[in-house]
Amino acid sequence: MTRLSQLVMDQGIQTVLVDASGVLYTDDGVVPGVPETIQSLRDAGCYVIVVTNNSGHSQAMIADRLTRFGIPIDPQDVISSGLGLSEDAQCRQIIEGRSVFVYGRASSHGYVTMAGGQIVDEVGDSEVVVMMASLKADNQAVYESVRAHVIATGVPVVCANPDQYIWNQEGLYKVCGYYATQLEKETSCSMTWIGKPFCNFSMVVHDILMRRNISVDNNVLFIDDNIHNVDRLRSDLGILGGCVSLTGLMNHYGMDIIQIGQNTDYVFETLAGEISTN
Ligand SMILES: [Mg+2]
Repeated sequence: MTRLSQLVMDQGIQTVLVDASGVLYTDDGVVPGVPETIQSLRDAGCYVIVVTNNSGHSQAMIADRLTRFGIPIDPQDVISSGLGLSEDAQCRQIIEGRSVFVYGRASSHGYVTMAGGQIVDEVGDSEVVVMMASLKADNQAVYESVRAHVIATGVPVVCANPDQYIWNQEGLYKVCGYYATQLEKETSCSMTWIGKPFCNFSMVVHDILMRRNISVDNNVLFIDDNIHNVDRLRSDLGILGGCVSLTGLMNHYGMDIIQIGQNTDYVFETLAGEISTN
């Protein structure tokens, strides 16, 4: 019996929504004890769904990776911010029937085609730019070509990964949302954000849960390493929230901004570790 599965039983929690990077795994691999914790939740009859801002990989790829980490999961039980492109009416309206340049990798193209967009290889041919993931190689060159196109044409931009930083072995590492914020500042473009911690994505999560006949209330617990995500999803949906403190982004934000009862219900050391409440 893990600490989290005990909490789930004590509180009558039936569904656990859990972030991936910084909670299930870090740069160092799977967080120790987490596969056993997830299994113990399932043994307690709890439904586990991953809610992630990873729009750089398909649901199947994310599920494969987690399975390799000893956390088997159905791709349907991965709610990625990339899904917001097809699930959110406003995003869909921007993309559907248009030619789309993806700032990111081919592994995220599926989210755009699901939303009715047609992928183009050259940014100059696009009617919409969708930002899905920063690039390991050529990031600056691709970013600059996007910026030039946006300034020249005023095409709308959608960012499906609002994460500004991830925490890795070198410390803070800039990712997609950082470059989207920079693009917004440098071009005054029309930017639509989808993903945690935006209300439109909370509603995407809400609608997917409702379609699965999950009542969205305090029988649902959401756990993330970003307190802003916990705060937002918890207050938008009226569910319970938990933040992990020793893995992921709390290294950056610091414990002083966490107020139990104010923006989270629980603080976990790690998903497998001790739990504090007030
Ligand atoms: Mg995270």
